Amino acid sequence: MDRALGLVREVPDFPEPGVLFRDLSPVLADAAGFRAVTDAFAAALPSGAGAVDTVVAIEARGFLFGAALATAAGLGLVAVRKPGKLPAVADRVTYDLEYGSATLELPADTLAPGSRVVIVDDVLATGGTVEAAAGLVERAGATTAVVAVVVELTALGGRSRLPGGADFVSLLSV
Ligand code: AMP
Repeated sequence: MDRALGLVREVPDFPEPGVLFRDLSPVLADAAGFRAVTDAFAAALPSGAGAVDTVVAIEARGFLFGAALATAAGLGLVAVRKPGKLPAVADRVTYDLEYGSATLELPADTLAPGSRVVIVDDVLATGGTVEAAAGLVERAGATTAVVAVVVELTALGGRSRLPGGADFVSLLSV
């Protein structure tokens, strides 16, 4: 796992000046690294009464890790998308970014009430994106049991915005 996480590339001033971007492309491109991340996510999921049944993956890099986890753990996948991509939308949420706003949409006929989900993304920064996704989950009558990210940027305090009661899994805290 250390080797896999050592593949995370730091890119200064991307996509704008002052941002240190964590690029996980080299982890995905490394067969053992991608497998290690997927296995670690799967191993962290609760079993028994608290088990999850659905991966909610956030566009776009969350799709990659989320789909791998869903397959490894035998779970269904709900792909929460940026606006304008889905032909049928069950619900949408707009949330503030540092500059401007963003919207996420939940596809129709995917997330059943009563589902217990794991939300997957690549990076937790301010936590606004995961908070928005968790809002869609809650409004669908489902529960966010776990939030799983590869990298947590601790200085931005995103953990404080995670849904109450959810387990938090991050493989690398920086
Ligand atoms: P936030 O809503 O602030 O937690 O931002 C999380 C979302 O933005 C995730 O989908 C990440 O892919 C992306 N993101 C934010 N900051 C970074 C960063 N420094 N490096 C890579 N991705 C980031």
